[in-house]
Amino acid sequence: MAKPEFWKNNKNYYDLKSYWRNLFGCTVHKLSIDAGFTCPNRDGYVAQGGCVYCDGRGSKLRQIGALPSVTDQIISGKKYYPAASKFIAYFQTFTNTYAPVDKIRALYDEALAQDNVIGLSIGTRPDCLEPDVIELLSKYIALHHIWVELGLQTVHDKTLKLINRGHNYQQFLDAVNNLASSGVNICVHIIIGLPGESREDVLQTAKTLARLPINGIKIHSLLALEGTVLGNMYKNGSVKIISKEEYVSLVVDVLEILPPEVVIQRLTADGYRDIFLAPQWAANKLDVLNSINRELELRNSWQGVQRGRA
Ligand code: SF4
Repeated sequence: MAKPEFWKNNKNYYDLKSYWRNLFGCTVHKLSIDAGFTCPNRDGYVAQGGCVYCDGRGSKLRQIGALPSVTDQIISGKKYYPAASKFIAYFQTFTNTYAPVDKIRALYDEALAQDNVIGLSIGTRPDCLEPDVIELLSKYIALHHIWVELGLQTVHDKTLKLINRGHNYQQFLDAVNNLASSGVNICVHIIIGLPGESREDVLQTAKTLARLPINGIKIHSLLALEGTVLGNMYKNGSVKIISKEEYVSLVVDVLEILPPEVVIQRLTADGYRDIFLAPQWAANKLDVLNSINRELELRNSWQGVQRGRA
């Protein structure tokens, strides 16, 4: 199987920048938004304490003091990019579908009303997609570019339980099927290096996702952060943290399994510098990305190559 021409890039995988350039003919940027949502896996609705690796800030540093409006956050975010850019409003912090649908609609509508905002990317959990929310999202797709980012991390229920995700694989599958029927783009988040997971477990996650109607993926390594259950496990030596070599090799294995149409939205973790404990190698994002690219070149390999060999 040859490297797919529709990527129109010089990479060995289909990155988000290339996908958006192919789709819209221009550069598109994501603007992160904290819309004041919380998480049912922390507030007691599903569970308390949250996922073992969660630092309680919900993917992004929640700022001190009153939260600026969605409009103000978009205006400030745009300042970093050329005026002619197009934007996706990224509802990133905590669980961005965890509220009554009228409240959710008002926040999404506010974002979509801003100049040059062509769509939404909505981070959420598989157990937080009520039918009225999916119906709302399906109504946007005629005029807007809509993604839902589903935190899964692994397809293995034993690990989901161990990391206190508060949902199982079947709930994820139901969410994927419901979202796919609505026409919304689905991006799945997975973590490599979860406690107790073998190489085969990670490959099984990739093989399972490769058969599902998903459109994108974010991959990152397990991070031990200060103030988390996992951080304490790391400090007392009860969890093994993956090496850079193992991580790079597994990322490339996963890329080889995924279909070439699946958009690769992330290959390594971002941020958390102030509370970062381990692995140290993950703090150098550029080096991790370069190592993944080098491994792909060394193997003379690219995303989806395994499907051609099957
Ligand atoms: S679902 Fe996200 S915000 Fe909620 S506990 Fe887990 S990592 Fe934290």
